[in-house]
Amino acid sequence: MIEKKKIALLGSTGSIGIQTLEVVEELSQLLQIEVLTANTNADLLIQQAKKFNPNVVVIGDESKYEYVKDALWNDDIKVYTGSQALMDVVQMDCVDLVLSAIVGIAGLRPIYKAIEADKTIALANKETLVVAGELMTQAAYKHGVNIYPVDSEHSAIFQSLVGEFHNPIERLIITASGGPFRGKKRTDLEKVTKNEALHHPNWKMGNKITIDSATLMNKGLEVIEAKWLFSVPLEKIEVVIHPQSIVHSLVEFCDGSIKAQLGLPNMKLPIQYALTYPIRQSNTFPRLHFTDYPNLTFEKPDLNTFPCLSLAYHASKQGGCMPCVLNAANEAAVALFLQDKIGFYDIPYLIEKALTETSFSKPTSVEEYINIDETIKLSIYNTFNHS
Ligand code: NDP
Repeated sequence: MIEKKKIALLGSTGSIGIQTLEVVEELSQLLQIEVLTANTNADLLIQQAKKFNPNVVVIGDESKYEYVKDALWNDDIKVYTGSQALMDVVQMDCVDLVLSAIVGIAGLRPIYKAIEADKTIALANKETLVVAGELMTQAAYKHGVNIYPVDSEHSAIFQSLVGEFHNPIERLIITASGGPFRGKKRTDLEKVTKNEALHHPNWKMGNKITIDSATLMNKGLEVIEAKWLFSVPLEKIEVVIHPQSIVHSLVEFCDGSIKAQLGLPNMKLPIQYALTYPIRQSNTFPRLHFTDYPNLTFEKPDLNTFPCLSLAYHASKQGGCMPCVLNAANEAAVALFLQDKIGFYDIPYLIEKALTETSFSKPTSVEEYINIDETIKLSIYNTFNHS
């Protein structure tokens, strides 16, 4: 009998979390859920727990602990709460692989703990590598832990690199759909609303990443993530706009050959690959028919209209705490935009201001990164609460 891979799924109630459970359900002969975690969505967590019967669930919001515990009292499922619980459950002996689908910097601590406990990582939470890429990859190297990408672009690069590990890479080319505002100019976007920004043409995702896609910050974060995942210098990572979202990214090798991975935009494919690597499993996902897409097009990104992409390159080039500052300012600005407190171009403005006003430092621990993150966010939130 095949031993099932035992999974801790962090952020099970989000867009990636829900799709991960759909993949697990289809491959239930191979995969088993041991841990489910959510932040506030207690009802969905309970529903998922009753269906997948994990060993443990964690509800981040402590005020919902009793509610979840009561709902699951008759099931043989342990219920924990709080951020410490998140760090403890990823280290449990019964867990083989931790898939992090938490949004934002909240993913940092549990993934570091999971690496320290030698767990295989499947990473959707790009902020972990953006903020603390050096620390995380060094810890993964030290513990002999593999980090498999869930992001479709990084999965495409990962898949293109299979069998190529000794061949020098000349370029990574990360594709971007261009988001809902592709082709627009600055003047068109001064007054866009959050509803317009949340309307992504190709992908259905959580709110934060959807706004990041509209500003192109998502691509900036992905460039930084790729730098760490594949140990490729920033100068060798390019972004190209590909509105059809069929070519998910490309690798150019030293002989000029380019390999790519293609498919319909469907996050379940990269999720499945991260969960079953190196084996490909049959599935019922819709197939790509080339004749349905006679025009696959590629354009240069418009950095004047979408300055967040340049800000991400800039912060990554500076290194040290700067990618953390970039990420913190972006998370705070996106949260304010989603609350209708600031406009679309206030997002890059606040990020640039934070990068300019913060002194360079080189954090050496997760806690130092979290302190920087909190300081930056507090200063941005305070400004807006008092204006
Ligand atoms: P969602 O907002 O849809 O889901 C986020 C999940 O994280 C939810 O389960 C949420 O719980 C939980 N969560 C939120 N805040 C906290 C916290 N402070 N502590 C613990 N858990 C928390 O996000 P997505 O699924 O869209 O994205 C998740 C990550 O994957 C992001 O980093 C994103 O960049 C990345 N990603 C997403 C893609 C997509 O297609 N959605 C594609 C590629 C990468 P609750 O529901 O209870 O609030």
